[in-house]
Amino acid sequence: MNPSNKRLIDVIVVGTGLAGSSAAASLAEMGYNVKAFCFQDSPRRAHSIAAQGGINAAKNYQNDGDSVYRLFYDTIKGGDYRSREANVHRLAEVSTNIIDQCVAQGVPFARDYGGMLDNRSFGGVQVSRTFYAKGQTGQQLLLGAYSALSRQISKGQSDHVQPSRVDGRGDR
Ligand SMILES: Cc1cc2nc3c(=O)[nH]c(=O)nc-3n(C[C@H](O)[C@H](O)[C@H](O)COP(=O)(O)OP(=O)(O)OC[C@H]3O[C@@H](n4cnc5c(N)ncnc54)[C@H](O)[C@@H]3O)c2cc1C
Repeated sequence: MNPSNKRLIDVIVVGTGLAGSSAAASLAEMGYNVKAFCFQDSPRRAHSIAAQGGINAAKNYQNDGDSVYRLFYDTIKGGDYRSREANVHRLAEVSTNIIDQCVAQGVPFARDYGGMLDNRSFGGVQVSRTFYAKGQTGQQLLLGAYSALSRQISKGQSDHVQPSRVDGRGDR
């Protein structure tokens, strides 16, 4: 899409968990006008807050032979071979960029004593590839995504809309 046409397009995002708020913030950063609809009092209260263990990414920081293919295979196997393979492969491909994006958003991932991003083994995988923030990775990721969204709201690129709730107090 021609960059100058992006501002003519309105994108509606329903739900502001990790997926919705990240998509809304990224699309707004790209120049689209975004309306993000939030069910809870704040995007910080989405169910994503419950995630604890961390995110798997094939960065091979531990130099134990990790790769996009190995993350793909582990994830397919971990999902009892019921996941859609094309989607899982895409997830494995972009996993490394997602960590970088979260770090840029200020997510305080655990670091080793040398100051580098730390990894642990999580979810039955065969290598150490989980990036984590203590036992509250989901909460920290949500705060990062929410602050990226807030930046776009303050720039006027994104509108965070709360539909009228049962008590009738619609809020923007
Ligand atoms: C206890 C727990 C631990 C987990 N641990 C991990 C982990 O360690 N690592 C990992 O990778 N994953 C983990 N997961 C999975 C991961 O957290 C989720 O897959 C991910 O957070 C889902 O994000 P989401 O944005 O798709 O959904 P959600 O965070 O659920 O966001 C969806 C949002 O949409 C809103 N919504 C729904 N309908 C509407 C509507 N009609 N209008 C407006 N808003 C609406 C909802 O209220 C919600 O806020 C864990 C999950 C749980 C529950």
